[in-house]
Amino acid sequence: QTAVVWFRRDFRLHDHTALVHALRWAKEREGKLLFFFHFDPYFAKERTYHHEYFFQTVERFRQSLCEYGIHMHVLYGDTDQVFTRLIYHTNMRAIFLNKDEVGRGKERDNYVQALLQRHGVEVYTYDDAHMHGAFEVRKADGTPYKVYTPYYRAWRKRPKRFPLSVDIDLLRAHMLHITPLSEQDERMFTMWLAQCTKRWEHTSEQDALHVLQQFIDTALPYYHRKRDIPSVTGTSRLSPHIKAGTISIRTVFHAVAQQFGNGYDEAVETYIKELAWRDFYHMIYAHFPFTKTEAFIEKYRHLPWLRDHERFEAWKEGKTGFPFVDAGMRQLKKEGWMHNRLRMVVASFLAKDYLIDWRMGEQYFQHMLIDYDEASNIGGWQWAASVGTDAVPYFRVFNPIEQSKKFDPDGTYIRTYVPELSSLPSAHIHEPWKSNIKVDYPAPTVDHSLQRQRAIALFQMNERL
Ligand code: FAD
Repeated sequence: QTAVVWFRRDFRLHDHTALVHALRWAKEREGKLLFFFHFDPYFAKERTYHHEYFFQTVERFRQSLCEYGIHMHVLYGDTDQVFTRLIYHTNMRAIFLNKDEVGRGKERDNYVQALLQRHGVEVYTYDDAHMHGAFEVRKADGTPYKVYTPYYRAWRKRPKRFPLSVDIDLLRAHMLHITPLSEQDERMFTMWLAQCTKRWEHTSEQDALHVLQQFIDTALPYYHRKRDIPSVTGTSRLSPHIKAGTISIRTVFHAVAQQFGNGYDEAVETYIKELAWRDFYHMIYAHFPFTKTEAFIEKYRHLPWLRDHERFEAWKEGKTGFPFVDAGMRQLKKEGWMHNRLRMVVASFLAKDYLIDWRMGEQYFQHMLIDYDEASNIGGWQWAASVGTDAVPYFRVFNPIEQSKKFDPDGTYIRTYVPELSSLPSAHIHEPWKSNIKVDYPAPTVDHSLQRQRAIALFQMNERL
């Protein structure tokens, strides 16, 4: 009897809920396991940083499995076709997977579940990607929380499951050894990877564990004080690993929580609160899926946002004339990742200074972020644009110059990503137009105080409606 383990955003062996259960199933029946990845044309057709990073992670996982003598089979094609072939080739009795609770992933899971059940395949699904699933933490009356702080209080009180480990020798003993289901599909996958525009080196499960340990040893004690300073390594930079599942969220949570009592409890608590924000946004998106395209706050659904393509390009290219904003946007373009403080600043700038539709920014981040997570991204954008639940109030508009002075006082971060400003002294780097030194850098494309008033007026107009 064979069971398939379907890997999707969980490219690791440690604390992989579906895998642990699949192995138990195989052991009880003296059955066999087969690892599978669906190379979906929907994702393959777009060559974004987000997809390239993702597929490189998949490949890295395949390679590390090879070291154990385990093969992860790759099949290319649309869902129906792929699963029909999978059934035909493996005669599988069961499939194990960590389920998706939001977006396209949820729709696909429901579809595949119905398809496989029609063929008599047992489908086992598990909550894995979050500390608490989208429907676990609710108010006493059963409705979802809409404000973070009470959600966090309830979230914090709930017992937290510990990571589960897998006996690799036992796993190897239960692997089904067959030739690749389709050599052609696997070749296509390799060819797709060969054409990537950018390479990320540290995408393995081992890398993720190393990043976590480094963070705990060096930055965690100062996390509450340095997490907003983009020029230092003040945050964990685990987000791409958490997204691709090269580390489990429980491993991160417990490794950090173990540091309570070591003299930096405030830092530990602050970090745990961030993990809870991730669950919060996931919960919100699961309950309110329309937020992908619509404001959470009803009265802000029809704000007359601009779709100014010229300014949008300037924002994307890091040529707004505001050094802190431009540094953030150029970090994104260079690395596929941006510091959280900058994500807030650039998102606020697009919505409140350029008055451009936040959905255009959300889409751009979707393409560019290697840690792109639908729920967190929508949550972050709606927060910055003041249209989401528990968002920044519309009258509190980030000042891109004051943010720059406060969080990058000597301009180290700006100099890293906007090298044409590197000759400016710190006193002028935040406002290069005030310096006598000539630099090849755009003048500010908008007047911040004026745009701030316009943004507030835009919201106030709708307040009165
Ligand atoms: P750390 O500070 O080390 O935090 C640890 C982990 O907690 C992160 O890896 C992440 O999983 C979680 N986390 C931290 N802050 C948040 C937050 N505000 N919301 C949700 N989860 C959080 N995060 C994504 O993972 N994917 C996205 O697509 C994404 N888009 C964003 C868009 C905007 C406009 C904003 C303002 C924020 C967005 N975030 C997103 C949240 C946050 O910026 C990143 O999670 C964080 O910068 C990742 O860096 P880190 O791992 O060093 O974070």
